[in-house]
Amino acid sequence: MLTDFDGTISEVDVAYSIVKEFSTGDWKGLERKYQTGEITSRQELPEQFILVKASKAQILDFVDKNMRLDATFSEFKRFCDARSIPVLVVSEGLDFYIHFMFEKYGVDVDVLVNSARFTSEGLKLEFQSTGLDCEKCGNCKLEHLQTIKGQGKKIIYIGDGSSDFCAAKEADIIFAKRKLAIHLDDENIEHFKYEKFDDIVRILEGLLE
Ligand SMILES: [Mg+2]
Ligand SMILES: [Zn+2]
Repeated sequence: MLTDFDGTISEVDVAYSIVKEFSTGDWKGLERKYQTGEITSRQELPEQFILVKASKAQILDFVDKNMRLDATFSEFKRFCDARSIPVLVVSEGLDFYIHFMFEKYGVDVDVLVNSARFTSEGLKLEFQSTGLDCEKCGNCKLEHLQTIKGQGKKIIYIGDGSSDFCAAKEADIIFAKRKLAIHLDDENIEHFKYEKFDDIVRILEGLLE
């Protein structure tokens, strides 16, 4: 089971909210270039986060006050644990706020995410995956999916945005909302729609019977 974090487990996109709140430069220009496909996320993310000059304490205080996780995610995690279904969070987001939020909600889950270093010049990113295969992603979700698939396992993928497009399509079962659901509808790719993680639990209960 692979799941996205921002906008999927968290109610809103935390990375985007941090950039919006703390960026000191033209983050909107970068975002536009990314949305139109002029630059990839591997190019966009470092440029966007180097413009964030806040301290870790300032950012976590903002996250603590304004960002929430889907309250039903822990129920979903217990459901998977009880059936020995491994859950792996794959995200283009950053380690420090993702760990902070899971800790705050008392959720214990494996994550493969990008990491950030706080420097006087801004936030410096270190990517989770090599990016050698697709060269588009900072943390290539497809790369992680293929590793797991190579072990002969079936993949369930959960996501909401453009960073989920290529990985989701290679999964055996897809749960989608927002941009990802629209994209899969456009491409006639079968998927389940969800709003909250307890919707996914209900659907899986039916499928795994
Ligand atoms: Mg997302
Ligand atoms: Zn990729």
